[in-house]
Amino acid sequence: NLSSRFQEIFKKVRGHGKLSESNIKEALREVKMSLLEADVNYKVVKDFTAKVRDKAIGTDVLQGINPGQQFIKIVNDELVELLGGTNSRLTKGVRKPTIIMLAGLQGAGKTTFAAKLGNYLKKQGEKVLMVAGDVYRPAAIKQLQVLGEQTKIDVYAEEDNKNVVEICEHGLEKAHELGSTYMIIDTAGRLHIDEQLMQELDDVRKKVRPQEILLVVDAMIGQDAVNLAESFNKVLSIDGIVLTKFDGDTRGGAALSIKSVVGKPIKFIGVGEKIDDLELFHPERVVSRILGMGDVVSLVEKAQSAIDEEDAKSLEEKIRTQKFDLNDFLKQLQNIKKLGSLGSILKLIPGMGQIGDLAPAEKEMKKVEAIIQSMTQEERKKPDILKASRKQRIAAGSGTQVSDVNRLLKQFDQMKSMMKMFSGGKMPSFPSFPGG
Ligand code: GDP
Ligand code: MG
Repeated sequence: NLSSRFQEIFKKVRGHGKLSESNIKEALREVKMSLLEADVNYKVVKDFTAKVRDKAIGTDVLQGINPGQQFIKIVNDELVELLGGTNSRLTKGVRKPTIIMLAGLQGAGKTTFAAKLGNYLKKQGEKVLMVAGDVYRPAAIKQLQVLGEQTKIDVYAEEDNKNVVEICEHGLEKAHELGSTYMIIDTAGRLHIDEQLMQELDDVRKKVRPQEILLVVDAMIGQDAVNLAESFNKVLSIDGIVLTKFDGDTRGGAALSIKSVVGKPIKFIGVGEKIDDLELFHPERVVSRILGMGDVVSLVEKAQSAIDEEDAKSLEEKIRTQKFDLNDFLKQLQNIKKLGSLGSILKLIPGMGQIGDLAPAEKEMKKVEAIIQSMTQEERKKPDILKASRKQRIAAGSGTQVSDVNRLLKQFDQMKSMMKMFSGGKMPSFPSFPGG
């Protein structure tokens, strides 16, 4: 697979003393072959390798890093870029409910995803209604109803109506009645793209005007996914893509091609048949999965580039003289963010890849950041001056609770007393994150 092929390539590059034009050439050819074998679109591969070549030649190899590692980093960064940089979230409409319509071929995983998404939104406090828009197979309605019961999410279905547009309109009335904040429309698929299917989806689109049309694609179909996405996009102007069955023996090709050819972001990936087997799409995570780099050295490398020497020195000084304040804390958090998601950082440490859901920890980090940013400079320097009324303002300003503010302050205090113990000696590079 792609991952082990890359490992081989990088072993080869590691063997050379220097990143010369000739060994880049060999490594690039291998990268190209691997990507083509992973069923990545030819044009995408060509552009990609050209970019990596340009970047690699003329790059100074960082001190303490060997040329192979430097090369890995370039390939890594370019792959992340290819996948769309940062992940893109769902939009939330101003009117209620926000309507999300699913589209895709039969068996792609639409119905399963409807329930996964519904459950994901429900966990965020949303009230969801799922509408059974697959009217051709009686089993399809039943499938959605069973999933609805399992997840305790409302389902709207009409057993004897074959008019999908009508069902969706009635579903919308139901959503208003129930006070649903999201309405997810599950639709029928076909084995292949056909006119009638497209027409039907387009009719629904025109009538109910979904905020999001998500194309659900089976990641295992490789390059076909690109053509599929293009066809759907032409008619429906989709807003994003969901790649399902990413847990299987996917070749990664679909993910790598879709974004650059169709220009629409991948928003979620399905990683199993269970309701919780859903992940927000994080390019860095997917790349490290594709590259399979469980490599402490590249963590060090990333760390070196993100936190420059100067910063580290001044930080050390501050800790030694006990002048470390919330501004410095904020800076450290932002440095951690520069390294990528927590998930991608942990992936680099052997054995830590399987750590599970990191979303709560990342959410907590965002919260802390927002809280500090809502404080005045004075307050960041001397958090002790914060009175109850200010804490309330800060909580309101950062969209958090006073208890969150208090928790942060308490953890910061604990950290400072820890630092007191360290002062004089070496400092730890990162503060421990609160919560998590
Ligand atoms: P639909 O025809 O597009 O509605 O597809 P379904 O939701 O009925 O799913 C088709 C099959 O794919 C079912 O057996 C699902 O359990 C399975 N499936 C859906 N998503 C995933 C996934 O992310 N991983 C795996 N392994 N199976 C999935
Ligand atoms: Mg279905």
